[in-house]
Amino acid sequence: MMGEKKKVIIIPCSGIGKAIASVGREAAYEVIENLKPDMSDTVCLSLLVMGDERARNLVRENPVITIDGCPKDCARKNVELSGGKGTVHLRAIDALKDHKDLKPKSVIDIGEEGKKLAQILSEEVAQKVDELLK
Ligand code: SF4
Repeated sequence: MMGEKKKVIIIPCSGIGKAIASVGREAAYEVIENLKPDMSDTVCLSLLVMGDERARNLVRENPVITIDGCPKDCARKNVELSGGKGTVHLRAIDALKDHKDLKPKSVIDIGEEGKKLAQILSEEVAQKVDELLK
């Protein structure tokens, strides 16, 4: 829309049952709520999958960062299917490969290590937000 400030839409995968996906979601919330609240937003991946018009328009009209738990890339694939452009794609599992000592504990409680990993990932996401809106 004319004059409306663009935001980066951050979409983590749904990753039910995978602790590493919980890390990705935690990182996404950290960016949206604390690191870049005025520059980012999110939308339910499920709405995109169901073809919701508002959700589709959001990913078509704004830059997007997807955060997938694993190489199946569910968030990335669904954003692409919805016509999303300018997509930066990250994987929580890659952050874990770089920081093997920060293994998340479980799906509902990622633990201290998982939280540290989410923090590291969120800083990477926040940097991408800046780059995308430059
Ligand atoms: S990317 Fe991996 S963890 Fe995320 S929803 Fe898909 S299969 Fe699950």
